[in-house]
Amino acid sequence: MSFNKNLDRLFDAAAGVCCYCGCGTYMVRREPGPDAMRRFGIPEVPGSARVLAYRLASIERIVRHVDGGTYAADNIALACAFCNSHRGDASPEDHRAAMVALAASSLHPNHQAEPTPERLFRRAKRAPAITAPSLAA
Ligand SMILES: [Zn+2]
Repeated sequence: MSFNKNLDRLFDAAAGVCCYCGCGTYMVRREPGPDAMRRFGIPEVPGSARVLAYRLASIERIVRHVDGGTYAADNIALACAFCNSHRGDASPEDHRAAMVALAASSLHPNHQAEPTPERLFRRAKRAPAITAPSLAA
């Protein structure tokens, strides 16, 4: 069984939901950039594709690799790239509590508050001004 078959099966079994923070993940092969951007409501402006990086689906080994954890079926779960890469040596329970707390305080990148019109307006004001072409003949 290939690595990707494992990820495919995990993704379907978990409905794409991260086992730690509960965010929706995506897989590049199934949802290329623009499709995933639409699904998560990410506006298609330059640079915004970067926020997708932390939503990538990945295989989490519950008993960590360094502790001898394998890809056996009872040792794997689906996790978003952010949760998977920030676990360190925390136990799965401690890590889940930490990620849920991060999400609750909007510090988890995959649990940001929806951009309100006010926030979008502030962002637009910071952008470089567009100068109108001169009307002088
Ligand atoms: Zn997560």
